[in-house]
Amino acid sequence: MNPNQILKQYFGYDEFREGQSELVDALMHSRDALGIMPTGAGKSLCYQIPAMLLPGVTLVISPLISLMRDQVQALVTNGVPAAFINSSLTETQYNKAVTNARGGQYKIIYIAPERLLSLSMLELAQSMQISLIAVDEAHCISQWGQDFRPSYLDIPGFVESLPTRPVMAAFTATATHLVRNDILSALRLIDPLALVTGFDRPNLYFEVKQPKDKYSALIQYLKENDNNGIVYCSTRKEVEGVTEKLTADGYSAARYHAGLSDAERSRSQDDFLYNRVNIIVATNAFGMGIDKPDVRFVIHYNMPQNVESYYQEAGRAGRDGLPGDCILFYARKDINTALFLIKQSDNPDEIARNRQLLNKMERYCETDACLRRYLLEYFGERVGHDCGNCGSCNGNYDETDVTIDVQKVLSHIGRLNKAGKRFMFTHTADILLGKSDDFTDLSTFGIMKGATRHYIRQLTNRLTALGYIHDNGYLSITPKANEVLFGVVRVSIRGNKPESSAKKERIRKQIEDSAKYAFSEELLAKLKELRLTIAQEENVPAYVVFSDATLIDMCQKHPHTLEEMVSVSGVGQVKLKRYGERFLQLLYAEQRNAALKEKKAELTLELFMHEVDIDDRPLQISRVAENINAVLLKYDRPKTSGMRLNSLLIEAGYLEATDDGKTPTDFGCEHGITSVRRNSERGEYLQSLFNAEAQRICVRLLLEPNL
Ligand SMILES: [Zn+2]
Repeated sequence: MNPNQILKQYFGYDEFREGQSELVDALMHSRDALGIMPTGAGKSLCYQIPAMLLPGVTLVISPLISLMRDQVQALVTNGVPAAFINSSLTETQYNKAVTNARGGQYKIIYIAPERLLSLSMLELAQSMQISLIAVDEAHCISQWGQDFRPSYLDIPGFVESLPTRPVMAAFTATATHLVRNDILSALRLIDPLALVTGFDRPNLYFEVKQPKDKYSALIQYLKENDNNGIVYCSTRKEVEGVTEKLTADGYSAARYHAGLSDAERSRSQDDFLYNRVNIIVATNAFGMGIDKPDVRFVIHYNMPQNVESYYQEAGRAGRDGLPGDCILFYARKDINTALFLIKQSDNPDEIARNRQLLNKMERYCETDACLRRYLLEYFGERVGHDCGNCGSCNGNYDETDVTIDVQKVLSHIGRLNKAGKRFMFTHTADILLGKSDDFTDLSTFGIMKGATRHYIRQLTNRLTALGYIHDNGYLSITPKANEVLFGVVRVSIRGNKPESSAKKERIRKQIEDSAKYAFSEELLAKLKELRLTIAQEENVPAYVVFSDATLIDMCQKHPHTLEEMVSVSGVGQVKLKRYGERFLQLLYAEQRNAALKEKKAELTLELFMHEVDIDDRPLQISRVAENINAVLLKYDRPKTSGMRLNSLLIEAGYLEATDDGKTPTDFGCEHGITSVRRNSERGEYLQSLFNAEAQRICVRLLLEPNL
């Protein structure tokens, strides 16, 4: 088999996504590889597919137990022999896994880095043929990264201990140049194919809000979006507070932070993974290695400390490629919290570095430029245009012309620069505000007396975004600033963001209405229900059975046979055998219902004659109407009555009104209408009776009154 066949047979996909086939190719040709791919780009397939084709076994070094469990579950469901070895196994389970591994029963083994240099692991490694070692979350090896894991430094020693060096692959979702170089050198990759796929996630919608009351804003969002999602808070206390309020308000939410017991944390995580709760409220301790693809929103209740963390956390939305919302609730107060957390370090260099990173995060919150563009450019991608689908692109803001004030700021910084001085923001602003003890004789000293530091910050951020100020922690003006100083260009800042963005809704609707997303919500809900039933039977998260994207594709393709089912994206051979029949049955039943409904819409005379109860005995008109109504009811048509039938019969010349009541005409008698004399308390009267032919005439007159 070749990689494409493996992709189809085991994972159910027709084609590789961006970057995947290059990386697979390199590894298949024994070349080391470094894949830098955003969350959700499908990096695990890059080593899982070679693992299936290479002889022996592939070791995957992964930092988190939960991630290993999820990945192994997903692989096994797809029919790939895989296992994990970590501290969550009991001794019996561990021994069984090791025996199986020795017996060559696995193609992929996930292992925790802490285990690598244990005696039993070293022994096991000697006894197996290891073709490939894949290092997941490879940025954990860098001390520059936020997630440094000392045990990752054991990897090179472990590799060296092996009889032959396997091919090495490293993967990470975010890496700056510094981290990238660390990975390459620390893992001792040899002439690797280094591949960076685009960081853009077009299905994610980015927005920054500055709500007066964050909790109300959260509730407002949850009311409008009944979905799965993560709410990130910066402190444990905030996590506790928000979870408590949400629970009291009737939302199903779990909490997650480092202060909880291991048991509670893993329970919260599982509840979220298995869709037993909709919302998880968490600190940044939650998430690395969370593989849940159907997270529909990530709300940051507080501003994170840097853009890397933000993009990584926000990127946990929409991993299945379907729309996801990334919304940041920003308040000036968050900066103080972030500063406080940064200052906890006793390393002054680190504090300075983190302050700079915080500055960039703050600018994201304050910018009125395209947010996606800001993020991508932060990661070094060149973006030629605004995205048209973020809070900034869609918001309609009040613009305020601030040209005079920014001229003051620019000329002030220019003067300082001329004097050979570059200051950080606070000092620069304090001189402008007249709050400083030095530079009292500078002509710009105190020229913005009465303004707030926040306002000057806003202006500075805007000027930096527009390229008039260069800010590397210390401020200087760029040559371009002359445009503003000489009044050639005017500068404005925006007012507050409007709370509701109708335009965003419109665009989202457009996306959802486009062909790609056209499907019956009702059918999707039923498929999801079936998926949940199966997931509960097998005790796995719902997405391990099928992803949302697969179910949507199923709605659209509506397969009738197992062969057609194979064309649904994400249905591999094993899942086809395992679940195909049950989903087909559901789809078949749905189709029959739909066909029935359609039939109702096209109620023909022929069909009506077939369905209506025609009695061989002569019936009085009210009974005829009853029989007709039984059919009309079944086809959702309005009911008729004996009176209505009578008037139709008179119109058509079958009956005539006489003093005695309604009597059949000669024409009516010819067609099976008779009349009998009845007695009632009010005296004698004539009643018409309708034989089989006459009953059919009633139906015809009702359906085709012109006959
Ligand atoms: Zn945009």
